[in-house]
Amino acid sequence: MSKTNLLTLLILLGLIGGVLLGQFALFDPQYQYDNNYWSGHWTKLAGDLILIRPLTLMVIPLVLVSVVVGVTKIGDPSRLGVVGGSTVVYYISTMLISVTIGTALVTTIEPGVGVGNAAEVKLAGEEQFATNLIMRDRVEAAEQTTLGDAWLNILKQMIPTNIVREMSATRPLGVIVFALLLGLALAAGGEKTALAIRVFDQLFDALMRLVQWIIWLTPPGVFLLAAWTVGKIGLGDLVGPLAKYMSTVLIGLAIHAFIVLPLVLVIFTRRNPLRFMWQMRRALMTAFGTDSSSATLPVTIESAETEGGCSKKAANFVLPLGATVNMDGTALYEAVAVVFLFQLYGIDLSFAELLIVVITATLAAVGAAGIPSAGLVTMVIVITAVNTSVGGRNIEALPLAAIGVIIGVDRILDMCRTTVNVWGDAIGAKIITRIAPDDEPT
Ligand code: ASP
Repeated sequence: MSKTNLLTLLILLGLIGGVLLGQFALFDPQYQYDNNYWSGHWTKLAGDLILIRPLTLMVIPLVLVSVVVGVTKIGDPSRLGVVGGSTVVYYISTMLISVTIGTALVTTIEPGVGVGNAAEVKLAGEEQFATNLIMRDRVEAAEQTTLGDAWLNILKQMIPTNIVREMSATRPLGVIVFALLLGLALAAGGEKTALAIRVFDQLFDALMRLVQWIIWLTPPGVFLLAAWTVGKIGLGDLVGPLAKYMSTVLIGLAIHAFIVLPLVLVIFTRRNPLRFMWQMRRALMTAFGTDSSSATLPVTIESAETEGGCSKKAANFVLPLGATVNMDGTALYEAVAVVFLFQLYGIDLSFAELLIVVITATLAAVGAAGIPSAGLVTMVIVITAVNTSVGGRNIEALPLAAIGVIIGVDRILDMCRTTVNVWGDAIGAKIITRIAPDDEPT
């Protein structure tokens, strides 16, 4: 068996073993959703130490070096404009498609209508919200943020004043912009900067080597993290009162991941999507196990370039940016979750309000960081926007505590939407490879 197949098998075994350990040894109804109990659990601590921290350690150096290398390979600024423009068009259009699928599904399936014990579900959710202090603080802080503030914040991150501060706070956007400019300047420098370009090239190779070592930590890491998630929630909830809501999200994600994105890939590259999915398997499984597109980024770049046939010109640029802003799964999930909550609380949304959901959910997904549960927090932006419109019709707004209803099961959905987020980034890299292959004559 080849090394990569062995690794795939081990990651798969890790995921399955983790689910079994979580369900049959760790799950205890007494501690279901109990944040105090689970936040310090040994599976979480060990999973963090073994996998999340080493991967996260790689993210900022890799973002800096990979974007510089990608840009210096593209070289010409007008060429970079074409690649950048196509990338942004790809991100926005696929996110809009996914959010539309989510909105169409949730208004057709109506998972929040006719929930048997709706009053109980709401009450339990609101209690859950009140006791989950960390989440409550994050949500309440987000509530103070208008959509304008959120955009201003993104702009400020894109025009940083201190690159080291951005790095130390793990805010990739500023680092990407800086790396882009540095790459352009290096490319423009000709002979004078040729040595620095080579240094970045070689650093990139060394970082990739490091990633290849760290990847071997994925099987035990995802084993522990999957055990933690399932131990905390229990698979029983998959058939509980939220089953219809969860299925709506999962059906939407499946349509987007297995039909829409593959179609886009076939249309633009004529490549076999299943084959590409197999080539990207380690990144997809890591995303599933870690709940974080950012932490998965090193594996995504490695898989895309070694097995997936993506060029450095495309992948080095599309993947780091994509891990931060391109989130098809999150956009779809936010739309379904918000409309579901309004349905549960008996608030009918008009067509115009559904449009607000489509647009703000896309923007909120762009603003979500590639870390666990980020989508749950930025969803507040969508709820606030819809509430403003609902308030104009003199209808009572949705209380923010309603988010408590879906906090409990969020982690399981997060695993799936993060996988779709990474899959969307990978397909983007493959498509842009057609526009910017590495082996073209320069
Ligand atoms: N966990 C997701 C990601 O890292 C973001 C989210 O939807 O919460 O891509």
